[in-house]
Amino acid sequence: MTPRKILRDFFGYDKFRGGQEALITRILQGGDVLGIMPTGAGKSICYQVPALMLPGMTVVVSPLISLMQDQVTALRESGIAAACLHGNLSTEEYFATLDAIRAGQVCLLYAAPERLLTDAFLSLADYVQISLVAVDEAHCLSQWGQDFRPHYLEIADYLSRLPQRPVVAAFTATATAAVREDIRRLLRLRDPLELVTGFDRENLRWIVEQPQKKYDALLRILREHKGKSGIIYCLTRKLTDEVCEKLRKDGFSCVNYHAGLSPEVRAANQDAFIRDEVPLITATNAFGMGIDKSNVSFVVHYNMPKSMEAYYQEAGRAGRDGMPADCILLYSAQDIRLNQFLIDRDDTENDLMTPEQRAAVREKDHARLNAMVRYCTLTDCLRHYILRYFGEESPLHCGNCGSCLSDTETVDATVDAQKILSCVYRMDQRGLHGGVRLVCDTLQAKETAQTTKLRLSSLSTYGIMQETPRKQLEQMVNILISRGYLHVASGQFPTLELTTKSHPVLRGRETVEMALPKHQPKKKTLDSVPDFAGDEALFERLKKVRSRLAAKEYVPAYIIFNNATLQAMCEQMPLSAAEMLDVPGVSRHKMEKYGDAFLQAIRDYQTGS
Ligand code: ADP
Ligand code: MG
Repeated sequence: MTPRKILRDFFGYDKFRGGQEALITRILQGGDVLGIMPTGAGKSICYQVPALMLPGMTVVVSPLISLMQDQVTALRESGIAAACLHGNLSTEEYFATLDAIRAGQVCLLYAAPERLLTDAFLSLADYVQISLVAVDEAHCLSQWGQDFRPHYLEIADYLSRLPQRPVVAAFTATATAAVREDIRRLLRLRDPLELVTGFDRENLRWIVEQPQKKYDALLRILREHKGKSGIIYCLTRKLTDEVCEKLRKDGFSCVNYHAGLSPEVRAANQDAFIRDEVPLITATNAFGMGIDKSNVSFVVHYNMPKSMEAYYQEAGRAGRDGMPADCILLYSAQDIRLNQFLIDRDDTENDLMTPEQRAAVREKDHARLNAMVRYCTLTDCLRHYILRYFGEESPLHCGNCGSCLSDTETVDATVDAQKILSCVYRMDQRGLHGGVRLVCDTLQAKETAQTTKLRLSSLSTYGIMQETPRKQLEQMVNILISRGYLHVASGQFPTLELTTKSHPVLRGRETVEMALPKHQPKKKTLDSVPDFAGDEALFERLKKVRSRLAAKEYVPAYIIFNNATLQAMCEQMPLSAAEMLDVPGVSRHKMEKYGDAFLQAIRDYQTGS
């Protein structure tokens, strides 16, 4: 069996996605890997396919029970012998699982890190060879990551106590250098193949709005996404409850989720959402890690989150099935203050840190928040900004974000760019380092305490942009930052610096084009997500078949087939088992289990019965 054949037969996909094949090949050759792929890119396949090919068993370390169960259910549906060991199993289930493992009947075993060093778990290696240990959500090892789990540090210990060191494969969506370094070091990876795949998620449309009334904007968005599944992230628990309550009063079916709810309510609400019994969930950032629901078709942020990292992870939960999906951020100036407050408040929970460390972390938090604010006020391509933030080059115009789709005109802004850059240059010559506000004040000859005190009126660039509206000037500065012509140095106050990219512009060797709003920015409402080419009515029928099967098997509907697969059926109209197997997402196993029910529905539809 080749990896490709396994992908086809067990998972029903024809092609590997970017990075998957290289990582799998390396694992099969016996080498360690560190895979860095954005949420929804398909990390699981990278260890699941090798697990089916290697002798013995693969252990998958995973942080959350809900995540393990979801994956194990999905794998079993595909005919793969997967199991998990965690504290929520009944005694019978627990011992039955141990027996199955010892008998060599389990191919993929999911476990939480706190279980690894128990005697029962360690002794499993006496019965089966453990060929591969996959560490999912590996950023949990690092204190720089958002979700540090001390038990993850025990994985290295576990590896050293196995009779034979297995191949180690680590996966995360967090790409910062500090986190990567921690993962390599703390897992003691051996010369790992480190692969960062493209961070772009083409099917996601990025939108920022600054509405007068957020709730009204939310209602409009929900109408535009009628019948679709969506997450509404709020910054506080209180807001999460309030928005949920209002939506219910307005006739929407919605549940809420945050760490202040009892574990039972939380689990019930999450389940209702995952199983598509309720289409909407309002949630704090406590919701989502390990949620693999693939048919979320929009994510609204009711408040600006604290960083681009957090935003990309949360918004990235939309459109995992590859269908067009919207990520909409509702921004207001209050969001900045709320986030600043959350960063600066005394955080006694984190007493692991020294005061110096805490101050350093706080400074980083403020810098990350500033980058988030720039995203919210950008008139330039949002996708370009995101990708650049994560260190990836991309075109200046994606054509599928709020900025690219709104009413802007592209103008040659070289002269304006030169004025702004030379103002930074002149200030620097005097040993002055200012932020966006000070630079703009200087360019516009605004008399403030600072411009007076620093005697900026004697600069040759003082007042050379008085005619430009302030808002437009700030937008242009923003664009120069987002394209790398200016760098924001973080310190107590963020200051602007020239970069190597600035010089060709200053010397007139490079032109700068900018898309600037013609009228008011971002007022335009966007069309709802385009519908697919197949037949709506057939799609509805297939969804009914799916619901019936899901209820019978007691699994979430998308585990049977996701929306992308159903839509492909509508477009391809398969009439035989062979044709059905050509539909992306239909594996051999699922064809045998469910294929006939769907084929029947398609035939009935064609004959008009
Ligand atoms: P991640 O863990 O990276 O966030 P997952 O492993 O949960 O992502 O995969 C996200 C979705 O992509 C899943 O629905 C999965 O079945 C799908 N997927 C993964 N690999 C492929 C592929 N090669 N072709 C099509 N779909 C894929
Ligand atoms: Mg995952």
